[in-house]
Amino acid sequence: MILLSGKQIAEQINRHTELLCRAFSERFSSKPCLAVILVGENPSGRTYVNTKRKLCDLIGIESRLYEFDSSVTQKQLTDKVKSLNEDRCVDGILVQLPLPSHADESAVIDVIDPGKDVDGFTPQNMGKLLLGGGRLISCTPKGILRLLDAYDIPVQSKSVCVIGRSNIVGKPVAALLLQKDRNATVMICHSFTDDVSRYTEKADIVIVAAGCPGLVTGNMIKEGSVVIDVGITRIPDSTKKSGFRLAGDVDFDSAVRKCSAITPVPGGVGPMTVAMLMENTVIAACARRGITDCEELLH
Ligand code: NAD
Repeated sequence: MILLSGKQIAEQINRHTELLCRAFSERFSSKPCLAVILVGENPSGRTYVNTKRKLCDLIGIESRLYEFDSSVTQKQLTDKVKSLNEDRCVDGILVQLPLPSHADESAVIDVIDPGKDVDGFTPQNMGKLLLGGGRLISCTPKGILRLLDAYDIPVQSKSVCVIGRSNIVGKPVAALLLQKDRNATVMICHSFTDDVSRYTEKADIVIVAAGCPGLVTGNMIKEGSVVIDVGITRIPDSTKKSGFRLAGDVDFDSAVRKCSAITPVPGGVGPMTVAMLMENTVIAACARRGITDCEELLH
């Protein structure tokens, strides 16, 4: 059984991104720049933003934080995004989700310049992903595929069950797996699927992004399958200094006895997502300067 350490693979990717950033700064006398918009006081949102900004610092990406009170209006948010679109120093724009319920997330995302959309959430970048191309691919799906590649886990001709159909994980990961360079057969389950185990037990690879701790148990999966647990839920835990622990969507203890490889939570998909954000920021910064392949920076 292989523990798929996203943490380890992400560290390798981040070291390479750091080299790219150094070369970028030498060539352009400025660092790639990521602008982050954070709204309200959602503790996990703030934690994610802090993690991303710390990594930017380590890697050599300038990060700028724009914070808004949860009473911010839709117009104030879209105006901010528009001004960041115009800001020549900004290469990437990230709006930390979720936004407060009165704000229309897709209306805010839609105004991001697709060339600066490092999360890959705009309709233009999602559309390109679906058509089998595009430069800025959303970070979690991209990170999942990179993790499978890093451990030489083939997806071609495999049956993959994706649980969850969100725009940020389920749909794009399913679309990527379906492309002609991946050639997987994809089943997608969601909250209206009658008996998820009917699909998981047929799958060579199960990818779970539902936000339901313990949803997938060992008796639902095929012997020797690969399990990718995207879920992150905060569970109150008074024995922890933070007051909570993180739980995935997979019942790790039962799944681990059946599968051939599995991601831990934390330390699996999470670090890969952040590594892909860093990489996408460099890709966007290069593209804005006419460089279509960042590796060129190293030549
Ligand atoms: P979401 O709430 O937008 O979507 C959840 C999806 O799961 C929905 O499509 C829903 O139909 C499906 N679902 C819910 N309960 C189900 C059930 N019992 N059976 C089958 N399907 C069910 O969530 P999201 O934004 O895609 O995130 C999902 C989880 O992944 C969350 O825990 C989130 O925190 C985590 N996440 C982790 C990362 C990472 O980097 N590790 C990134 C994004 C999201």
